[in-house]
Amino acid sequence: MKKRLVIVKFHEPALKGKNRPMFIRRLASNLRRSVKGAGVERVWQSHLMICLRLRDDADWDTVRRRIGDCFGVAKYYLAYKVAADLDAVKELLQPELAARQFKDFRITAHRSDKRFPIKSDQINREMGAYVQALTNAPVRLKDPDLEISLDVLHDGILVYFDPIQGYGGMPVDVSGTTMALMSGGIDSPVAAWQLMRRGSRVKFVHFHSHPLVDTSSIEKASELAEILTRYQYESELFLVPFAGVQQRIIVEAPPPYRVVLYRRFMVRIAEALARQQGIPALVTGESLAQVASQTLENIAVVDAAADMPILRPLIGANKNDIVDAARQIGTYPVSIMPDQDCCTLFVPRHPVTKSSPKVVNRLEALLPVDELVQQALDQVETRRFAFSSLR
Ligand code: ATP
Ligand code: MG
Repeated sequence: MKKRLVIVKFHEPALKGKNRPMFIRRLASNLRRSVKGAGVERVWQSHLMICLRLRDDADWDTVRRRIGDCFGVAKYYLAYKVAADLDAVKELLQPELAARQFKDFRITAHRSDKRFPIKSDQINREMGAYVQALTNAPVRLKDPDLEISLDVLHDGILVYFDPIQGYGGMPVDVSGTTMALMSGGIDSPVAAWQLMRRGSRVKFVHFHSHPLVDTSSIEKASELAEILTRYQYESELFLVPFAGVQQRIIVEAPPPYRVVLYRRFMVRIAEALARQQGIPALVTGESLAQVASQTLENIAVVDAAADMPILRPLIGANKNDIVDAARQIGTYPVSIMPDQDCCTLFVPRHPVTKSSPKVVNRLEALLPVDELVQQALDQVETRRFAFSSLR
């Protein structure tokens, strides 16, 4: 009986040198976690690919979706394994090809086991003639409508067709951990996701003004963290009460400067949390000139409040591309739900667009900065999320 497998391929250029075994091991272990409970019998490394063997009752749509969410996967295929015999391949192809429409095709055979008596060229010719007779479709070597791949292994032949594109990138956890400042908005979840795609595990920090406002932003941040957990299997969200900081700022600072000061405090608190966790960099969803607070001058003033790098993967992105990404990632519907965000509290409609470091320093000299940071840190609540197989 034919067995179903999934063949996962990765981009080779990303895999030079001694990082390669580590990358492949991590990808295999992430794949194992991502398909947990989905009917996968075994996951193993093979030469330049990772294979997953499906149980007969496995649901391909679920497996397909889960592997599609796994970073480091460049492309993947559903493959059938039949006996090491071309007649068995022909028997498989008949119903498979009847179910497909294609203008032209090619056979791409590869003998991983050189003991197989028929050479790749010959396999290509024999199977090409068979498929042509069966379907009337011509062979086209360059850019065919359908590519039929045959891998001859020592214990059978793998047959597979169309590749499914993955996100590529690097498996989560090969590039360290970052701390993302996550509002309930559209941009910051996309920024966090982009870091994950480069192999970073991302922890989240959300600032809220509860009890001055309702808990809607907290619930949104939690839902976003849960959605993003699909891509990294486990997440932590730090919820930081920010009302105390804001109340001090409104006493001392004129309205136009409040947003910039809020941001500087956010960055300081996030940095302290990151240090406690051994995390070396922050991430935000800022994009140049998207809103008044994201001018170069304001970004520079906010940057100066932190000693660690603040990564801004969306700095050059257009809003419509960010929205498209959010839709694809799955965060968009949550991000557009109305909420009571802390940054809308006590701020004017026209905040300063070119904040001056001098003014900022003068205003902050009136504030007990370290004390406010410490107070916020003392009240942090941590929520943990684990990838659930229920989706
Ligand atoms: P987003 O769509 O991510 O909310 P935005 O376009 O609304 O971004 P701003 O409100 O200027 O932009 O926020 C800039 C960045 O500051 C956000 O992308 C996020 O990283 C961080 N940030 C803003 N508000 C919060 C918050 N309440 N908690 C955590 N981070 C925040
Ligand atoms: Mg926002």
